Amino acid sequence: MGQIEIKQSGAKKVSFFPCVKCGSENIEFGDCGYSSFNVAWGKCRDCKHEVKISSCDWDINTEKIVKIWNEANNPKILRENYQKQINELQRLIDTLPF
Ligand SMILES: [Zn+2]
Repeated sequence: MGQIEIKQSGAKKVSFFPCVKCGSENIEFGDCGYSSFNVAWGKCRDCKHEVKISSCDWDINTEKIVKIWNEANNPKILRENYQKQINELQRLIDTLPF
């Protein structure tokens, strides 16, 4: 009898940031499962804050969705991004004539 090795990833725990808007950890992660123009999301069940991934690959998985949710709900990353925007706006302000 022949044998084939099937790679199984098995169950894995992935950590996610609480909702940046309300602090809830009651987050739904999901995707439509479409083969094309798939849409995935992370959504806070309490305040409805949502991170949409549109359109994403058909083979997106919860781990990838959580990664994108984390980038959008990580206060450190958000703070850095806001600071970059502030710096850019400050640069524009500085170019204005008095
Ligand atoms: Zn929330």
